[in-house]
Amino acid sequence: MLLLSAHHLGAMPLILSGRAGNILRHLAPVYRSCERGEPHLIAFAITEPAAGSDVEDGHGAEVYRPGVVATPTDGGYLLNGRKCFISGGDLAKTATVFAALQGEGMDSWTCFYVDCGAPGYKVARTELKMGMRASGAAEIELTNVFVPSDRVIGGLRNGWAMNRATLNASRIPVAAQGVGLPRPRPRPQWVSRRYKVGGKALIHYQDVQLHLATMVAETRAMRSLVWQEAKAAWQPRQLHASLCKFHVTDRAQRVCEMAMDLLADHGGKHEDQLDKIFRDVRLTLIFEGTNQINRLSLIEDWQAQLLEFNHGVGV
Ligand SMILES: Cc1cc2nc3c(=O)[nH]c(=O)nc-3n(C[C@H](O)[C@H](O)[C@H](O)COP(=O)(O)OP(=O)(O)OC[C@H]3O[C@@H](n4cnc5c(N)ncnc54)[C@H](O)[C@@H]3O)c2cc1C
Repeated sequence: MLLLSAHHLGAMPLILSGRAGNILRHLAPVYRSCERGEPHLIAFAITEPAAGSDVEDGHGAEVYRPGVVATPTDGGYLLNGRKCFISGGDLAKTATVFAALQGEGMDSWTCFYVDCGAPGYKVARTELKMGMRASGAAEIELTNVFVPSDRVIGGLRNGWAMNRATLNASRIPVAAQGVGLPRPRPRPQWVSRRYKVGGKALIHYQDVQLHLATMVAETRAMRSLVWQEAKAAWQPRQLHASLCKFHVTDRAQRVCEMAMDLLADHGGKHEDQLDKIFRDVRLTLIFEGTNQINRLSLIEDWQAQLLEFNHGVGV
């Protein structure tokens, strides 16, 4: 799931650049290669060892010294620096890499479409992370990686806008992951029939039934919110995607905790796979901006209305 969604995240700047040339020249070969049965994954690289939230939200970007820098050279740019926690970065053939321009600050952020086979591109290591282990989180070292000028995506210094538009498009699918993780497995219900306490299957206890009813309602409400906010996603606003991402993934974690509460020691056993869902779901609260940062994004989106309210005009 993460491997595929990370690929679409990587492809998104090419799509959102609004240039047909980027789609025909860069994206069409990717899909033709996949059709031939030769997988071509694209990675999306914004996070740097010293900047996760700062490069997703921008609050700290004003004081941040860019970690990946692009230096102009004949016919293109040379990229230097490190990116980290890049999903699928160990397998990707190309990557959309965000870098600041030499001698300028983070506001010069630009998106470059990088060939992962280019000299100087190195996967330094992959993290041994708590969940979603089928997708490698790679640390990428860039040493004088040449990127031709026609691989600047969306124009110089438009990286912030490209990044924002990409995350607005991709955070709703992260929320959908939050719905999908607890949803297709009726294990708590199934297990609560299997396990007995005081000679009775757990399901025959009324408080267990109340617990289950809440879990079902929570999951349905999460799903409805995803549909509702997805409908509004055509608007160029961060509110819908951020709200949907943080609320749904928070609730998804809560549903998993409720399943754990219900099953006690059985929930911790590997065979019922609840532990896996529990570890996987936790990561959806972190990537594509922590849920705290997504809450701040919602408030940022509402700033105009909030200020108006302060002046007594009302929302
Ligand atoms: C499984 C996984 C896959 C990932 N895949 C990718 C990928 O493909 N590409 C990519 O570029 N990145 C990827 N990431 C990185 C991810 O986007 C970052 O981990 C995330 O943005 C958080 O950054 P950080 O870990 O550096 O935390 P930090 O930015 O160091 O934040 C630490 C804490 O401080 C809080 N905080 C930070 N700033 C503020 C603020 N202004 N106000 C209040 N609180 C604040 C945060 O909410 C958090 O609690 C992935 C991460 C994970 C876990």
